[in-house]
Amino acid sequence: MRRAHSEAAGPLILVNRSHPLRAMSEPQLAPALGDTSVRLERRAAALLEACVRSVGGLGDIVPVSGWRSRGEQQAIWDGTMRSEGEEFTRKYVAAPGCSEHQTGLAIDLGLRGGDLDFIRPEFPDSGVCREFKRAAARYGFILRYPEGKERITGIAHEPWHFR
Ligand SMILES: [Zn+2]
Repeated sequence: MRRAHSEAAGPLILVNRSHPLRAMSEPQLAPALGDTSVRLERRAAALLEACVRSVGGLGDIVPVSGWRSRGEQQAIWDGTMRSEGEEFTRKYVAAPGCSEHQTGLAIDLGLRGGDLDFIRPEFPDSGVCREFKRAAARYGFILRYPEGKERITGIAHEPWHFR
């Protein structure tokens, strides 16, 4: 039996360079992994916590950036343009209106003790981070910008960005 798209459970949305978001209302947000300064859409926040807990990563895997308003994305874009230049910015920062972070369904994660750079936090392919990556799909998360797919996603490999 075929199901119409409207019957899909949960939010389903494509956001990228050629599919910018229309103006959207702020999603219902909750702290990501207990950090009130990094928030996610409520259901995504609960699934993220369950996933990190399942691999014993609470406290080691830390949220770096979750939901962003269009204004915040604009500020990140402008600031990165100023400090890092255009090439870097186009590679790692989605243009305002084109960021998955504006949906509240995307999260940048880092490893505590590592370099928690806001644009490129350290999320190694080892230890608890690798365990998280393996478990992610069971909780509805995917590594959104994998290596080798840059031409399709339009974004550099980002081992820290999950949606
Ligand atoms: Zn991200």
